[in-house]
Amino acid sequence: MVIKNIFRNRCPQCGKGLVFLNKNLFSFLNLTGMNLKCPNCNYNFFPEIGFYWGAMFVSYGLASFEGLLIIIGCYFYGNDLFDYWNLAIIVVFMVVLFPLNFRLSRLIWLYIFGNRIEVLE
Ligand SMILES: [Zn+2]
Repeated sequence: MVIKNIFRNRCPQCGKGLVFLNKNLFSFLNLTGMNLKCPNCNYNFFPEIGFYWGAMFVSYGLASFEGLLIIIGCYFYGNDLFDYWNLAIIVVFMVVLFPLNFRLSRLIWLYIFGNRIEVLE
């Protein structure tokens, strides 16, 4: 259920409100736009300043995992493991998968640490 909500861009608390404003993943008009709070339950999506810096680590992990899958795919396609074409293919895939990685990393970070920070107002 949690993984389904992450992929559906839903609030970690209620599972109904959208975290990112734009539902379309590959619409580059407003890729990074996020709601400040959940429109349904008022859950705070920005618990502190710089909260999403940590999402970089999640993004790094996702990109590494995808790169590994691509290298394995290239190997079964017939390339050598250390072929320079693998690197070019990985770069192309990373550019194409950037919106997915960006959103997934922020959503995973929010799901892990969003409710563990005391909000000082
Ligand atoms: Zn909510």
